[in-house]
Amino acid sequence: MRQLPGGGLADLLRAGVPAGTVNLAVGTPAFPDTPKELVDAACAALRSGVHQYQDPAGVPALRERIAAGLPGSPDPATELTVTVGGSEGLCVALLAAVDPGDEVIVLEPFYENFLSAVALAGGRLRPVPLREPDWSPDLTELTAAFGPRTRAIILNSPSNPTGQLLDRLHLEWLADQCRKWDVTVISDEVYAGYVYDGQHCSVADVPGLAERSIVVGSFSKSHAVSGWRLGYLRARPEWTDLLRQIHVATTAGAPAPLQHAAAAVDLFRAERWDPSAAMRERRDSTVEMLREAGFRCAVPAGGCYVMAAIDGLTDEPSHSFVRTLAAETGVLVAPATPFFADPRRGERHVRVAFNRPADTLDTARQRLRAQARRCPGLSHSSQEGEPA
Ligand code: PMP
Repeated sequence: MRQLPGGGLADLLRAGVPAGTVNLAVGTPAFPDTPKELVDAACAALRSGVHQYQDPAGVPALRERIAAGLPGSPDPATELTVTVGGSEGLCVALLAAVDPGDEVIVLEPFYENFLSAVALAGGRLRPVPLREPDWSPDLTELTAAFGPRTRAIILNSPSNPTGQLLDRLHLEWLADQCRKWDVTVISDEVYAGYVYDGQHCSVADVPGLAERSIVVGSFSKSHAVSGWRLGYLRARPEWTDLLRQIHVATTAGAPAPLQHAAAAVDLFRAERWDPSAAMRERRDSTVEMLREAGFRCAVPAGGCYVMAAIDGLTDEPSHSFVRTLAAETGVLVAPATPFFADPRRGERHVRVAFNRPADTLDTARQRLRAQARRCPGLSHSSQEGEPA
């Protein structure tokens, strides 16, 4: 039977967390609140009898709403496809762009599902390491990764897990590389609405890159509807034809009543829905909390996560440190191991999600403070292997 790589965080979830734990490990949104208008519209759609298959490319009115919120006015009829979350979008994009054996460049650390999605398409991962403090790519190393076997590169700006942004200069430079080696860009922009320093630049806004790009979007985090499974793919019409064929083969469409609900509200333009200022406050308080507790971290420019180094706190590897920390403080963070092709490279870091209510983050801070008072250095008492 085939084995897929990845899934480390899902395992963590399956193991369950004791009641009362402040869970900052997973990205499941607890902030912002799901917009009430969306919930009302979903109930109305179900009651009005939307229960059957619809156009697999997505409810046209929703595609129009999505187009209105994107730069460069994509044509909703030929350039947008509604998918079952960004996760399906990512897999469909890779299945469309990559043949078995092709190399796919990823900037490491990366969102863990990139591992399984590339493997599903039969691609071979070519990780290019990003380094602290700012986790931005070293262009010499990135240049060296491109070659005749490179078929695609996955970008993710703002990044999960580092919050790093690719600016226009990075993207223009990448456009030259991708043209040189005829490489397709799969640009995961699901955190585009959460940018705190600088500006989000979509690949769809960069001449030379836009034509060879497939953009992956999602409402899971932006509108706190991760269970609704609504995302989209944006690509030029020739790509969109193929993407839709694969999308029909894999899912035959995203949930119809929820698409109608999303189409019924005008919440996909930043003028109408923009929780980024409140998220920035959470980012700032989370960075403060972590630094105060002895973690070392850069301030993420965007996204929902802080990537923090644990070397000032413990010699334990991150996969056991997170258990020790949870047992001693009741605060759960994620080990960084799932975000690396070789998990050993993630043993000196943890990832902390901050899409949480302010009082949840305050509780985490108080607990870490109390532990620091009891035991400076946070985590000396437990040994690897002890139950959390
Ligand atoms: N890309 C990134 C970078 C993510 O962090 C996530 C969700 N954690 C996704 C894609 C997929 O999200 P969804 O399928 O819920 O839209």
